[in-house]
Amino acid sequence: MAIIVQKYGGTSVADPDRIKAVAAHVATSVADGNQVVVVVSAMGKTTDNLLALAQQVSSIHPVRELDMLLTTGERISMALMCMALADVGVDAVSFTGSQVGIITDTAHTKAKIIEVKADRVREAVALGKVAVVAGFQGVSIEREITTLGRGGSDTTAVALAVAMNADVCEIYTDVTGVFSADPRIVPMARKLAHLQFEEMLEIAGAGSAVLALRAVEFARRHGVPIHVRSSFTWEQGTWISDILSEGESTMEEPVISGVVHDAAESKITIRSVPDRPGVSAALFEPLAAANINVDMIVQNTSKEGSTDVSFTVPKSELQRAEKIVQQVAKEIGAQDVTSESDIAKVSLVGAGMKTSPGIAAQMFRVCAENDVNIHMISTSTIRVSVVVAASDMERIVRALHTAFGLDGDTAYSAPLPIRK
Ligand code: ADP
Ligand code: ASP
Ligand code: MG
Repeated sequence: MAIIVQKYGGTSVADPDRIKAVAAHVATSVADGNQVVVVVSAMGKTTDNLLALAQQVSSIHPVRELDMLLTTGERISMALMCMALADVGVDAVSFTGSQVGIITDTAHTKAKIIEVKADRVREAVALGKVAVVAGFQGVSIEREITTLGRGGSDTTAVALAVAMNADVCEIYTDVTGVFSADPRIVPMARKLAHLQFEEMLEIAGAGSAVLALRAVEFARRHGVPIHVRSSFTWEQGTWISDILSEGESTMEEPVISGVVHDAAESKITIRSVPDRPGVSAALFEPLAAANINVDMIVQNTSKEGSTDVSFTVPKSELQRAEKIVQQVAKEIGAQDVTSESDIAKVSLVGAGMKTSPGIAAQMFRVCAENDVNIHMISTSTIRVSVVVAASDMERIVRALHTAFGLDGDTAYSAPLPIRK
């Protein structure tokens, strides 16, 4: 008997028919003799709609209240899922994150999990029930309701899989696995049958929507295999683990496994920053203290004792970050602070890059040939990222996919559900 954690994303539970389809699948998994824990996201665009409502009633929306509001989305799904399960003869019980003891730090809207107690999940499973847990949420060490950041239901699922010592964490979504690029942008993208954690970490870290970064980090640390697959076709998807399947060898890792895009960041530039020791610390320390995630940083060479610094932050943090940077700019005697939101990050990821020099140069050549201007560059041992204009994003993702020989033989053929 296996212990399986199954996570269903927003599109997978978007309407009553989808909830019934998922319930039928859970019933099959139970009938096959597995112990099943289900994690659900909010239905369809519920989280976006709740955020829009918050914007409409307030320009401040205190983060404690925002978390109170956003967690209701997953609560709706879990209750409806248990009702649908009752109809197919499965004994199920729903729990909020706080009920199952998902203990987090106090960082509202992007809390980190500190501990997963999961006692009530274990009790339910021991009684032969399916536990249905609301994703994306927990309770802080100060007993406040928190959320884990966008896409956080993936993290809930992996954290529960670790706590339950599950055999696998299945992430059900609206595509049939992890592809060499988002099949919504690149129809010729290829499904990757198996990815090592290191590669999936870079893909998620580069901003791919398909799996939350924290979930991958958790799974890697605890060695829980993840299976990303479709709740529409139920076919075999992509396995993420460090276990090699038969016939697989790390000797010939593909140089590039995928092209990743991320349109969720903005760029901030400060001009005429005095070029002296301590200035970067003065700038980035307050951003770190405010828990703002700075991604790429570019500093120009100094000219006449001053320089320009540009960096990216999540779009959702831009307002907060700009306020802080404006204050710091005044203190250190820098000139103006500007921001740009119509940018996108495009990355090439591949474990084989370590031993193949020249990938970055080749990537820049493809950008040049496609008349795409590069605003920023960053690299790791297995990733090269460029920031480009948002309007160039889709075109350059497709061009890179083709140029690096990633196009498959056939176009993506499963239905691509529209996100309502
Ligand atoms: P869910 O609501 O199920 O969590 P997400 O929107 O978070 O779904 O993630 C699934 C989406 O990720 C897909 O619909 C697809 O458009 C997008 N995506 C981006 N990059 C990839 C990729 N490399 N492979 C597969 N899907 C990707
Ligand atoms: N509902 C949350 C979101 O839309 C969490 C999730 O779906 O993973 O980000
Ligand atoms: Mg998701």
